[in-house]
Amino acid sequence: MARTRVAPDFAVRRDTARCINCKACVRLCANGVHVWDEVAGAPVADESKCVGCHFCEEHCPTRALSIERAPAETTSGGHWTRSAIRGIGRQAETGGILLGAMGNDRPQMAYFDRLVLNAAQVTNPSIDPLREPMELKTFIGSRPDRIEIARGAGGRPRLGAPLPPLLEIETPIMFSAMSYGSISLNACRSLAGAAGEIGTCWNTGEGGLHPDLESCADRAIVQVASGRFGVTPEYLARAAAIEIKVGQGAKPGIGGHLPGGKVTEDVSRTRRIPVGSDAISPAPHHDIYSIEDLKQLIFALKEATRYSKPVGVKIAAVHNVASIAIGIVHAGADFIAIDGIRGGTGAAPSVIRDHVGIPIELALASVDQRLREEGLRHRVSIIAAGGIRSSADVLKAIALGADAVYIATAALVALGCHVCRTCYLGKCNWGIATQDPALTRRLNPEVGQTRAANLLRAWSHEIKEMLGGMGVNAIESVRGNRDHLRGVGLSQVELDLLGIKHAGSPW
Ligand code: SF4
Ligand code: SF4
Repeated sequence: MARTRVAPDFAVRRDTARCINCKACVRLCANGVHVWDEVAGAPVADESKCVGCHFCEEHCPTRALSIERAPAETTSGGHWTRSAIRGIGRQAETGGILLGAMGNDRPQMAYFDRLVLNAAQVTNPSIDPLREPMELKTFIGSRPDRIEIARGAGGRPRLGAPLPPLLEIETPIMFSAMSYGSISLNACRSLAGAAGEIGTCWNTGEGGLHPDLESCADRAIVQVASGRFGVTPEYLARAAAIEIKVGQGAKPGIGGHLPGGKVTEDVSRTRRIPVGSDAISPAPHHDIYSIEDLKQLIFALKEATRYSKPVGVKIAAVHNVASIAIGIVHAGADFIAIDGIRGGTGAAPSVIRDHVGIPIELALASVDQRLREEGLRHRVSIIAAGGIRSSADVLKAIALGADAVYIATAALVALGCHVCRTCYLGKCNWGIATQDPALTRRLNPEVGQTRAANLLRAWSHEIKEMLGGMGVNAIESVRGNRDHLRGVGLSQVELDLLGIKHAGSPW
């Protein structure tokens, strides 16, 4: 039987009139796409190796290269799409699971694009954020049911009981969990530095805290995941907050797997596992099979850190997310991070990434609504994650009920990522999702920090502009206030789930 050939995804176009045979593309491409042809005395491309990261295109000194999607080699249609046909071709060749990285990119999942924000006109005048103070400061954590006032010396009033610890951030945008190992140390340095510069938080992911990042630990949310990689009393003590990772939007219900090839000496020290061994996070925490078990872990982490920092739980957005959230609040969590179906990853089975879970917009609205109905909303902060692409997405998420958002893919794009979706190969030409020293050097952490901080600054400015236009001067006023939103082209069921009216409806 003839072997089926899977045609390349990308076509490498080289303008020979512009090419000066400098060999930069041959030297730079970690995937080995460009090779020097001695006979021709010119570079040639092996298109089957191209992942579409566009690194060569952007670094060719004469702009002789362009990387384009290859034309479909089969007649694809609305149902038998190009990716379905290619996926079958690859699986017929390898017999393996198809892997993917970054988030689900299916257009039907983007409810943010069907939501519009309000603006003030005439009776509720808008505010000029350049002249008036505009507050984005956000506190993450649990609020008490009531504040007890006692009488101190001289009858002066004082707090009768200490308040739960709160995480204070200057803008409601934080960097989501990305472990050292899945991304390079320079990428971690960039994000950690930017979080410190702006006054927000970054997240270690489940990879432990590298010694070089300890100086940024006061702005770190540290994860405790099922693999417990790098979790020590010092790790917990240094953090600003602790996050128990139960689920992830890109791969709900399954664990994680960092291939041994990415577990370098440095990664092994940080994760406290042998060099070259696969870092496997089991799908469940083997000590959590009930809300009671989760409560014990939250209690243990709070005891270990003397109740000095918020302890939260990260879950994937799934069908019964609101009920799960209620259980998490009763277990004593100070915040819940909900990661929607568009959440990013360094590696996940594509079939799970694309078909398991629900969009963050629907999950967020239902959790916020349910917590309000149960009188529990003040007991917990909600962090929304999974496909946040712009300041408008941030503000819409907050109007749907989030206290703050996590961004990951957007942060990596700020560092140079071109969303080629092959992070799992460990050959990221942009020096982000790789541990290859020759590649990681390509990302200058100072430049990365500036770019990531600029992104947060720009989005924060835009949020202030939108708030001013809405006639409000504090992000707090928009939180869970769905009157600021209207839906466009959504069914009544979708509108009801989101808790909003259709565009054109009056107050
Ligand atoms: S980098 Fe550009 S100019 Fe240099 S060899 Fe490659 S295609 Fe030619
Ligand atoms: S981080 Fe690198 S490998 Fe991953 S999608 Fe971005 S450019 Fe591609």
